[in-house]
Amino acid sequence: MAEAEATPVAHHLVVVGAGFAGLQLVRDLKGAGLRITLIDQRNHHLFQPLLYQVATTILATSEIAWPIRRLFRERADVTTLLAEVAGVDTERRQVLLEDGSAIGYDTLVLATGARHSYFGRDEWAALAPGLKTLEDATTIRRRMLLAFEQAERETDPEKRRALLTFAVIGAGPTGVELAGIIAELAKQILWQEFRHIDTRDARILLIEAGPRILAAFPETLSDYARAALQKLGVEVLLGRAVSEISAEGVTIGEEFVGCRTVVWAAGVAASPAAAWLGIPADRAGRASVDASLNAPGRPEIFVIGDTAAVATADGKPVPGIAPAAKQQGAYVARVIRARLAGAPPPAPFRYRHQGNLATIGKSAAVVDFGWLHLRGWIAWWFWGVIHIFFLIGARSRVAVAWSWFWTFISGQHSARLITQGQKGRDAGP
Ligand SMILES: Cc1cc2nc3c(=O)[nH]c(=O)nc-3n(C[C@H](O)[C@H](O)[C@H](O)COP(=O)(O)OP(=O)(O)OC[C@H]3O[C@@H](n4cnc5c(N)ncnc54)[C@H](O)[C@@H]3O)c2cc1C
Repeated sequence: MAEAEATPVAHHLVVVGAGFAGLQLVRDLKGAGLRITLIDQRNHHLFQPLLYQVATTILATSEIAWPIRRLFRERADVTTLLAEVAGVDTERRQVLLEDGSAIGYDTLVLATGARHSYFGRDEWAALAPGLKTLEDATTIRRRMLLAFEQAERETDPEKRRALLTFAVIGAGPTGVELAGIIAELAKQILWQEFRHIDTRDARILLIEAGPRILAAFPETLSDYARAALQKLGVEVLLGRAVSEISAEGVTIGEEFVGCRTVVWAAGVAASPAAAWLGIPADRAGRASVDASLNAPGRPEIFVIGDTAAVATADGKPVPGIAPAAKQQGAYVARVIRARLAGAPPPAPFRYRHQGNLATIGKSAAVVDFGWLHLRGWIAWWFWGVIHIFFLIGARSRVAVAWSWFWTFISGQHSARLITQGQKGRDAGP
């Protein structure tokens, strides 16, 4: 009897992280003949650019997140695992999971993103949640709505004032977007619904240590955004760093401001991918990779997206934004395909910047393409169309477009639910 021919075992690619970078990579490797294991600590891919709209009651969580398993239901080559990675054994070529188990790989791609950095003051995390996950967004939504509810019942004027003061720390796009919508909520939407407080008296502070908001944008656009925020009733504090945060309020330089809702939008740090691999990292903890996005001396390991430190052609670091992460995912897919085919590798990774966008409230935005600057409602429409386009699937596109249309014509937000209990602060004191 002839000996059965051995079935060749497909090359095993392990991808950690189903964010923008990991998802793009796996999509672009369709039909490449690999066996792919996609690991994420969450069961969903999240469209982070619209998270602030969940935090500020415009969108529901399911409108901006999709189960990863479902996204690859038709890809027999992809196995999705819900698990937290805790390390990498580069000698044994194994990914180490938090539960003590290990998964072997032939090629590994780490696309584990970034998280908040409190600049060494980690105790602030419980007092001033950042915005990175759906849980963060619903926590911020809950604290903000509870503050209005508690203010309605509060008889002490000073405590009521603190409940009606909202501080957003950090004036990059996320801080600007949060402050604008919180101001609209307080000053244009909620005021008719309360009997003992006037929500239009609420103070919304946007606190920035640097000299201007939206530092990555041209000065004319950041000036426009500051004026637009002030028109909405946001107090923009520039050149003022927060020195302390407590359950009672924030200290800005030497000045204490009583305040019960604080949101952190000031700093990010990469995931510990560099530490897992034992390779150099930049100041934000991002793993230094070579021009092919490989870990130094490890051609079988790639690091991509927010957790990688890569330089642009002019030597500047590639920004931590979604298009950069997607471009890196697409690039590594090309490298892997070339290797499998025994073809020469593609030219080194080159980042193409497509522009910066940020909204201010529900009808103004700023858009910077470098060669063209847009602001006001034209920019807002442009921003809206782009974001709808990049959502996954027709259902989400229709749902988000409808929510925005409804918010626009009715002046109401439809996701104003307090969940996880109706009393007190959740994780905070
Ligand atoms: C609030 C907010 C607003 C933003 N707005 C914009 C915007 O308007 N425009 C823009 O271009 N960019 C924006 N960004 C940045 C953009 O979202 C990121 O640059 C992009 O998500 C980076 O993609 P990534 O794949 O590297 O990481 P992520 O998308 O963060 O994905 C990382 C994935 O890895 C998983 N993971 C992490 N650690 C582990 C682990 N140990 N084990 C298993 N899985 C793990 C995570 O669960 C996650 O799914 C925003 C970011 C935030 C937080």
